[in-house]
Amino acid sequence: MRHDSDQGVRAPTRSGPDAPVAPNYSQSYIISSDCMDCGVCEFMCPEGAIFEAKRQFVIRKDRCNGCGLCVPYCPARAIVARSGFKERQRRTVQNLLSEALSG
Ligand code: SF4
Ligand code: SF4
Repeated sequence: MRHDSDQGVRAPTRSGPDAPVAPNYSQSYIISSDCMDCGVCEFMCPEGAIFEAKRQFVIRKDRCNGCGLCVPYCPARAIVARSGFKERQRRTVQNLLSEALSG
């Protein structure tokens, strides 16, 4: 015989205006491996979303509001929209490989 307690525990769900909204990071920016580690962008971000990491600066996606203010200040043009990041990284790696092979 099957009891209610045999069923898995379900997380409570909420709907309506108070329902939690899933974060949408699609408008946020990201820094490619072209970053020269200069740190200029960190001072341009009004949200404090840019931090220095090990070899380059990075953007915290949960803080970036997608304003794009940091983008024109990057001398390496390394700050790209999240949607274009994969393609940008692919080109960066391709260029690095070409340089390494030709040198
Ligand atoms: S401005 Fe560009 S090159 Fe300089 S730290 Fe920021 S992302 Fe890197
Ligand atoms: S797009 Fe705006 S919020 Fe996002 S990292 Fe750049 S300056 Fe900061």
